[in-house]
Amino acid sequence: MRAFPTDVELPKVEIHVTEVCNNRCGFCTTGWVNAEDKSLTHIPREIIRTQLQTAFDAGAKRALFQGGEPTVRRDLGDLLSDAHDIGYQATTIFTNARMAASKAGARWLAAMGVTWFQVSIQGGNAAAHDASVGAVGAFEQTVSGTRRLIALGQRVKINAVLTRHLIESLGEFAQLMISLAPEEVGLDTVKPSGAFGQGRASLPDLLIPLGPHRTQIRDAVLAMDGAGVVARLTSFPPCLAPGAEHLVSEEAPTTRTHQTSGTSVNKLLWKRGMQAKSPACAACAYNATCGGVYTTYADLYGTDELSPIAARSTQSPTPPQRAASDSSLTQALRAVFVRPETVSAKAPMRVLRVCRLVSGEHALDCVGPLGELRVELEPASTASREPPPYATTNRFVIRYANPSEADNPERRARVDLRLVDAVVNALRRVEPNLPREDE
Ligand code: SF4
Repeated sequence: MRAFPTDVELPKVEIHVTEVCNNRCGFCTTGWVNAEDKSLTHIPREIIRTQLQTAFDAGAKRALFQGGEPTVRRDLGDLLSDAHDIGYQATTIFTNARMAASKAGARWLAAMGVTWFQVSIQGGNAAAHDASVGAVGAFEQTVSGTRRLIALGQRVKINAVLTRHLIESLGEFAQLMISLAPEEVGLDTVKPSGAFGQGRASLPDLLIPLGPHRTQIRDAVLAMDGAGVVARLTSFPPCLAPGAEHLVSEEAPTTRTHQTSGTSVNKLLWKRGMQAKSPACAACAYNATCGGVYTTYADLYGTDELSPIAARSTQSPTPPQRAASDSSLTQALRAVFVRPETVSAKAPMRVLRVCRLVSGEHALDCVGPLGELRVELEPASTASREPPPYATTNRFVIRYANPSEADNPERRARVDLRLVDAVVNALRRVEPNLPREDE
């Protein structure tokens, strides 16, 4: 098992910056504390700066801010400045992205110089997500906030917890991830937590047996991987995702996390202290690297569904297509084409995002005509399913997806020639003024 491919080789520290949250996730202690206690506070900036400095001196070079919901802090930009001033090379904000649903909120966040936004999306549709996070309307805000951040050129990772709500909407979740195209998607299992204390969430309601859902879990991660989305099951027994064992990932051994008490612990060892395996695991090819299931899961459902694997998978995850960093050309293309504020149902086409690929090309992800206009398209013939020759030039690849056809792969992949024409013509107009790739 390995860490996420987009995880830079930098030891990470995770820091709680606030107790306050605008979601009420059933599996999260903070969500329950917010529902029960109205006098919650932000952690003082001085304490966070001390924690950042101490962790940096001990070797951390990447800081992740979590909560609660970090974006409810007005001084979040100051905390990031502190991290950058101390010398952190990468920063992450773990967020539900609801703040970014507004144009002003998205711009405020995009101006902070964050390396990654790690967005929590907890279901494949509004009913599933809103039930999981205990907030009506949250899905719409989170998805639109995520789209805005991506459109503004921000690097986004997605995190989700395999609750009943997510598992029962996993197919839609995978399609949503393919449509959003974040840098990576991490699927965690439900951890032991104070969220399941007296008078709080019912563990059996949220944590359903994984064994009967192994096929859905495998198919979802394989679908994302096959579509070029880096998707991983984290701290997950490979035997419960047969056929996707190569997409199981693990916490980097150097990551340290600050508990809400302020205590700093090694995250991998902390997780291992809450996990259980079966005696049969001794015969498994993954025994040395697998932590098994959480003890709360084992207490509920036992460990009989854990079945040893004879040999480790030789399959490799699909390599990420997206380059680790943008160039000045990427930024120029984004500035020209991606205009989230001009999005309108009447717009004939728009470019959702611009990515620099590891191949050196740039990909422009576009959506075409929506609503009634869509039915005016010619029926797909064998020939029209082939991209027209000008869909790929020396410098640009134009990818097209029709999100309204998410359940129909054939119609979804149909190329809209009017869209391609419009984008290619626009590229021809601006190309003389774009910087060279090496500038
Ligand atoms: S059998 Fe045990 S060691 Fe093997 S993948 Fe399953 S939980 Fe992990």
